[in-house]
Amino acid sequence: MSECIFCKIAAKKLPAKILYEDDLCVVFEDTTPQAPVHLLVIPRKHIASLNSAEDEDRNLLGHLIRVASRAAKEVKIDGSGYRTVINTNADAGQTVFHIHVHVLGGRLLGWPPG
Ligand code: AMP
Ligand code: ZN
Repeated sequence: MSECIFCKIAAKKLPAKILYEDDLCVVFEDTTPQAPVHLLVIPRKHIASLNSAEDEDRNLLGHLIRVASRAAKEVKIDGSGYRTVINTNADAGQTVFHIHVHVLGGRLLGWPPG
């Protein structure tokens, strides 16, 4: 079993508040929310970061974005607006090296991000 915490969440070896899952991905609540709504969309496949994604992952990456938008609609922030973020490596503040799409909303989000 991988030591990766997001692989463990996908495999239900670690608890998470899961909103949606399918054969390719899982959506769950971030434990340290940075906004009233803060969801994470992860692939079941372990990909460490956007740097490690391959051409063969393009459909999977597209699926993550589609699921992110459906999740935003489900939690009713599609109209007010939301931000989808993929942090990559140190300067972006990536802390979990299993690719994930943040879905943030429910408040006015500043731009540019810090
Ligand atoms: P990043 O900094 O882009 O790598 O984002 C990692 C995110 O994962 C952070 O927002 C953390 O709060 C979140 N996180 C870390 N561990 C867990 C966990 N066990 N369940 C849910 N979210 C987590
Ligand atoms: Zn993983």
